[in-house]
Amino acid sequence: MLAATVCAKELTIKLTFMRIIPNRGVVGSSPCSSKKIIIKPLAALIVLLFLQLCALAQLKEAAAENQATKYVLVIHGGAGTILKKNMTPAKEKAYTDALKQALQAGYAKIKAGNSSLDAVEAAIHVLEDNPLFNAGKGAVFTHDGRNEMDAAIMDGKNLAAGSVAGVTTIRNPISAARAVMEKSEHVMMAGPGAEKFAKQAGLTIVDPKYFYTEERWKGLQQALKEDSIKSKLDHSSNQSQQKLGTINTDYKFGTVGAVALDNNGNLAAGTSTGGMTNKKYGRIGDAPIIGAGTYANNNTVAISCTGWGEFYIRNVVAHDLSALMAYAGLSVEEAGKSVIKKVGDMGGDGGLIALDKNGNMAMPFNSEGMYRGTITKEGKIEIRIYKD
Ligand code: ASP
Repeated sequence: MLAATVCAKELTIKLTFMRIIPNRGVVGSSPCSSKKIIIKPLAALIVLLFLQLCALAQLKEAAAENQATKYVLVIHGGAGTILKKNMTPAKEKAYTDALKQALQAGYAKIKAGNSSLDAVEAAIHVLEDNPLFNAGKGAVFTHDGRNEMDAAIMDGKNLAAGSVAGVTTIRNPISAARAVMEKSEHVMMAGPGAEKFAKQAGLTIVDPKYFYTEERWKGLQQALKEDSIKSKLDHSSNQSQQKLGTINTDYKFGTVGAVALDNNGNLAAGTSTGGMTNKKYGRIGDAPIIGAGTYANNNTVAISCTGWGEFYIRNVVAHDLSALMAYAGLSVEEAGKSVIKKVGDMGGDGGLIALDKNGNMAMPFNSEGMYRGTITKEGKIEIRIYKD
């Protein structure tokens, strides 16, 4: 009779031929002790089957783990009404090239053994310096015709974080955010104070005119026109519904963000933005608010968001995603979907990028498109713009 004995110490399964003794079941001797154990034949079979199934499942899991693509850097260049029919091949190429260049800059840092923070900062610099994106050069205009930028960075290793809000003269706001994190005792600095601090930290300060681009200026003029039509309509229909500071939600493309995982298993996240076109009177979005638009924690995931910031703040999206992984055991994919659904259910739109501690990523969005790119551990790049 074939039966099974299990050695708890060695965690092995041993098959042996055993003798059936009437009324006593099967008698065999354990390979890890000299004590005799008695196992009923049916129970022995069930145990054996169960253990074999467990072993098989473990093997399958290990194989899947080995085969799964491991990502080290994921970036976005904003979410919004990005439709193929509105895109020229030249424009599409320009976006693709810029995203590629940002991925390569960040990847070079990781390859050289630098930190995920270095990779995030390097990737975001490329996008901030490119007028195609709504961050740094290319930032959108406020209602008053200014460029007021927000940025944040977070270190998943120790939950250190830094951010700046409403800055107008710092060429690369992501570096100012990093300076706040590393060179001050604070997490967030805003306006002229943040600019004074950035200057002291040795960062490049530019004339606010540096951020002017024709395209963004035209975007503001269009938004102002629509705003005045809307306010006339609001006025004639229901005055109490009228909101001062209403912003046109369709004028917010190109926020940039990056999440990275370095060779030491450290996660980092960063986001940089001009915010929303036609934003009014010192409005600050989700990007510089830790836990809303930006978050990183080595125990779970690194996240950078893009979209209608007010909804991301109210849903504390980035931290919510991490919490769903930590407390509810969701995968990065499931948690990403869940938080974007919450934003959508409330009437908000946008997307996010997330990279977990094991190199799995997710890039959910509920808008028409999201500029996004990934690079694997082996250096394989993938860029996407539209819905799949
Ligand atoms: N989330 C940004 C903000 O609300 C805008 C964007 O991502 O496009 O400031």
